Amino acid sequence: MTIFEKIIAREIPSTIVFENSDYIAFKDINPKAPVHVLCVPKKVSARLDEITDALEIGQLFQTASRVAREACRLTDYRLAINVGAGAGQIVFHTHVHILGGWKNQDADTHHNEMGQQ
Ligand code: AMP
Repeated sequence: MTIFEKIIAREIPSTIVFENSDYIAFKDINPKAPVHVLCVPKKVSARLDEITDALEIGQLFQTASRVAREACRLTDYRLAINVGAGAGQIVFHTHVHILGGWKNQDADTHHNEMGQQ
């Protein structure tokens, strides 16, 4: 069971900002931006490139955008996915990072924050 499945099952606490039958979104425990939320499909895959259904990938991004706009109240935001340990993935349950809330919309200075440097 992944840590995110435990969050879905309410076995460990989290700050949930959105949930429906297929997705859950909650605050990242170690935020790398003023707003940092994870959008997680309840259907488990270890990494994005395991998902073969293009519709599922599209719905994941559509849901993450909706969470960013409606739950996080962001007009400008970054969606990011780490695919594989070498890219910084530490939780092997596919998820989209929603990052935003920088002052002056100056996201350029934050473009490396998702990597493990
Ligand atoms: P990634 O490096 O793409 O696998 O991202 C995993 C993210 O999950 C990291 O940003 C962690 O801070 C976050 N994380 C790990 N455990 C928890 C947790 N219990 N609640 C919320 N976020 C978590």
